[in-house]
Amino acid sequence: MTREEYANMLLPNVLHDRKYYEEKYKKRNLKPGAMVTRIGPSPTGFVHIGTLYQAIVANKLAKQSEGVCFLRVEDTDQKRLVENGIEQILEAVKTYQIPFDEYPIDMESEVGEYGPYIQSKRVDIYQAFVKDLIIKDLAYPSFLTEEEKKEMTEKQQKRKQRIGYYGIWASKERSLTMEEVQEKVASGIPYVIRLKSKGSFENKVVIEDCIKGKLEFPENDMDHVLLKSDGIPTYHFAHAVDDTLMGTTHVTRGDEWLSSLPLHIELFQTLGFEPPKYAHLATIQKEEDGKKRKISKRKDPEANVKFYNEKGIPVEAVKIYLMTLANSNFEEWFLANPDKDINEFELHFENMSTSGALFDMEKLLNISRNYLSRITAEEFYNQILEWAEIYSQDFVEDLKTYKDIIIATLNIERNVVKPRKDYDMYSEIESNINYMYHFENPEYEWQKITEMKEIKNILQTYRTKYFNEEDNDEVWFNKIKDMCDELGYASNMKEYKKNPENYKGNVADVSTVLRVALTGRSRTPNLYDIMKILGKEEITGRIALLEDEA
Ligand code: GLU
Repeated sequence: MTREEYANMLLPNVLHDRKYYEEKYKKRNLKPGAMVTRIGPSPTGFVHIGTLYQAIVANKLAKQSEGVCFLRVEDTDQKRLVENGIEQILEAVKTYQIPFDEYPIDMESEVGEYGPYIQSKRVDIYQAFVKDLIIKDLAYPSFLTEEEKKEMTEKQQKRKQRIGYYGIWASKERSLTMEEVQEKVASGIPYVIRLKSKGSFENKVVIEDCIKGKLEFPENDMDHVLLKSDGIPTYHFAHAVDDTLMGTTHVTRGDEWLSSLPLHIELFQTLGFEPPKYAHLATIQKEEDGKKRKISKRKDPEANVKFYNEKGIPVEAVKIYLMTLANSNFEEWFLANPDKDINEFELHFENMSTSGALFDMEKLLNISRNYLSRITAEEFYNQILEWAEIYSQDFVEDLKTYKDIIIATLNIERNVVKPRKDYDMYSEIESNINYMYHFENPEYEWQKITEMKEIKNILQTYRTKYFNEEDNDEVWFNKIKDMCDELGYASNMKEYKKNPENYKGNVADVSTVLRVALTGRSRTPNLYDIMKILGKEEITGRIALLEDEA
């Protein structure tokens, strides 16, 4: 039996050979220095914030170097796949408007010349390369059962040896003759294809990581599985084939993959490929009880990108925040250039954290407040509506019915040098502003002045003597001060501080009565602006609610 015949026996249903695929995927025609980056998420659960982070970094690096960034769904681990996993990835890409150049649109269609962009559709490609390795005696079949594997592990544990399939542990199967293999195959024993590692654990492999610098590891000496018994490759093997054929220049991924690096390097070398450059990004961490730990898929709701969508934290704010995690000098640049598109900022590996990037919710919300204070009220309204249509149907109705009032409310103190920063999530807008259009059973947050008789006195005096819808801001406030003088409250705060005993209270206490009477709340944006929006009829109606109270 020739080695070709042998390989054909082991992988009988491969449509093309290695050469076919190497010719099919042409070298990319890009200018020197252009980076080709990708992310390779696995659809094994919800989309992790770390994946979004990697997507932003990978896209940025490609765009700023006039390169290409693509999305490749890595769904070879059939056991861990979840239903809708791929859809969740595609949805997150859409929601966060990640500008991939090449990507799957859905299970059937895609954009790009280097696809398929879903690994399970590339099985023939992987098998073609495995077949080539079998012909070259760089890979071999392994018939080890689960039972035998367990036994082997137990022995290794007992002898305090490294766990895995290597050296003497692999020698028996490595040396099976083609005839012995043929016999096993003919009798239907399932098999995987393993790498015939040439590495030695005693030797070092040195890798220059773009972020972490020079790294040194023992060489890989494990005969890792390349193809599983169902013919599906492992992620390790698939990525080496894909990143080569798809022309990846820089693999940007989480540093949890560092320990696999020696294997990956050996895979590229065994395949006769030049390994890409690697840039391992520090994982996003969280501080808990003074200790840092990786943000966890199981424990932390904020690990899921959906969390931000549900809460209504703007996509743009999340993206800006992730940029601050990516590059230490981004924040400074952003503060100096608040009106620039964040795409104008250049990311550099030197400014990326080599250890953990600490997740800070407060900081994210602060970015969100800033962002929301800088967009127009109309744009803000549209974003809220878009959010509510998915997450808060009840609010949609009010948003549509009271559109003008809501936009006007969002617009209070917006187009000024220092705009108000009242809002950080769409999910909190409704409870923040609904007093503007619903005032059926207000709960009044009275402050200093709580006695109903006095409250009524103030309100009645105001309504009958001082309220005039036409007044401008200044006149309006002067009248409140006049009213204070009339009712025995200090209109001048300095005076009041000098001799508080001379007064019933001060102008702030009186304004608060008016504010609470009209909104229920003790804290609101500018009361004058609120009154302008409410209008005379609504104002007198709201005051009457209290005046008429028995
Ligand atoms: N499929 C791997 C993951 O789920 C991607 C690793 C890589 O980017 O090489 O994280």
